[in-house]
Amino acid sequence: MAEREQLEADVLIVGAGPAGLACALHLSQLFRQHNESGAKPELSTENIYVLEKGREVGAHQLSGAVMDPRGLKELVPDFESSAPLDTPVTDDCVMFFTEKSALRFPITPPPFKNRGNYIISLSKLTKWLGGLVEKTGANLFTQFAGASLIYEGEGIAGVITEDKGVDKNGQPKDNFTPGYELRAKVTVLAEGTRGSLTKQLVSKYKLDGLNPQIYALGIKELWEVPAGRVQPGFVAHTMGWPVDMKMYGGGFIYGMKENRVSLGLVLGLEYHDPLFDPHQAFQQFKTHPFLRKMLAGGRLVRYGAKTLPEGGWYSMPRTYVDGGLIIGDSASFLNSQKLKGINLAIKSGMLAAETILEALKSGDTSAKTLSAFQKKVEASWIKPDLWAVRNFHQGFHNGLWMGMIHAAFQQISGGRGLVDPMHSHAGHEAYYKLDAQPPVGAERFKGDGKLTFDRLTDVYHSGTRHEEDQPCHLNILEPDICISRCTKEYGNPCEYFCPAAVYELAHEGGELKMKINASNCVHCKTCDIMDPYQIINWVVPEGGGGPNYEGM
Ligand code: SF4
Repeated sequence: MAEREQLEADVLIVGAGPAGLACALHLSQLFRQHNESGAKPELSTENIYVLEKGREVGAHQLSGAVMDPRGLKELVPDFESSAPLDTPVTDDCVMFFTEKSALRFPITPPPFKNRGNYIISLSKLTKWLGGLVEKTGANLFTQFAGASLIYEGEGIAGVITEDKGVDKNGQPKDNFTPGYELRAKVTVLAEGTRGSLTKQLVSKYKLDGLNPQIYALGIKELWEVPAGRVQPGFVAHTMGWPVDMKMYGGGFIYGMKENRVSLGLVLGLEYHDPLFDPHQAFQQFKTHPFLRKMLAGGRLVRYGAKTLPEGGWYSMPRTYVDGGLIIGDSASFLNSQKLKGINLAIKSGMLAAETILEALKSGDTSAKTLSAFQKKVEASWIKPDLWAVRNFHQGFHNGLWMGMIHAAFQQISGGRGLVDPMHSHAGHEAYYKLDAQPPVGAERFKGDGKLTFDRLTDVYHSGTRHEEDQPCHLNILEPDICISRCTKEYGNPCEYFCPAAVYELAHEGGELKMKINASNCVHCKTCDIMDPYQIINWVVPEGGGGPNYEGM
């Protein structure tokens, strides 16, 4: 085995999303101020490393997205002069859908008021932020993923990036390059939802919060529609059809410039029916008369899916260990009531940067010093934002109507509601067992090819691409369970919840087998979250693989 090259940095940030890039950019600003003040030790931005597994910055960034600019304004005060903001919100509303009608609420409830916010492409915004980070002299490495953590003492000391050029049997190919051993005084995990390194770290040091993390899956399409069909700056959130009243979920419709509309469905990952198909529900959503009319004559531009950490304050893991911090979606910084995480991700990255500067100055990067991050979070506007909705998602555990009653009580009691803290269970525990199995190879939703699509057509529009000859990045730890138990007990929900048609139960050589079409994977992590036996382990594929959410 070839030796790994070792590199040393002061700070290593895993993930170039809004949290990771805000951390790198603010750290660079702080290093400059520190050096200009003449304080010692001198700190160099060249010793800040950022790893990004996508083929370029922004390739894996997906969000609705309506951004509250509060965090960005603190990070880049004159952001409006250069950031790609698309459109300011000009009209916001909540609508209740039945199968045939759409009822607009006479007033927009406060959490859904979006005046002052911007409809953006998160992919474009992070690409722009990445450019600002590169200008500071920090090192941004794209197409490199953190494959494993380097543990040291009671904490972490860096990551090992993925080996490149390994074939599907695990053997080195001609272009084999071993992963780098990247060591750092502080390693920041900013991997997004259900980060694979964060998962390892939280499990090893038992960092879980009061509640397990609970998630939602967001499925989105970007459309180009005939001129005048939707006003740029129009923001609608929908409740009701096609989401079952026993489930948590709703839709969004955002009007963008150049006759584009961003629309999607966000569904709580704690539903009971193991055969529920979120992608099909989203396709059905588009057939509502309101959307059918809006999209008629238009064309699908892009598709994507991602999970959101919706557990909020009570699901936040401990965010610090010796030599390590967790920020952004990986650390539950998302307001599920407002469906806003970008502002919190940016602010968490900035607070991490301030904590790291103090640690580097003192030469002490232990958990004790880095715990200042949690105190900074509690003293910042993040705490009131998340504290006010600390029981929000949990309140919907028994369906929409009960959830709205809980939400009303929470609204008038500053988030306390009827029960505080309200406990939750991991989503995969919610499945009911099946009375009857679905037939193997049952016909799945095909779509009409104009308004509605099958999953493979949508995957094509996600720009997803992986090197085919590489080890499967979806590890089924006990493959026998798929056939011996899951088929009978739950009907293999992975075939239904995966929005990219990765899992396929089929007869091969007279045997029933689970086929994994790993190259379709859009990295949403639903399988890692919702597999009923928790035997699917999503690990990073070769860097550069995955979706390309350009413009999303
Ligand atoms: Fe998402 Fe898993 Fe399917 Fe990949 S395989 S698209 S992570 S559910």
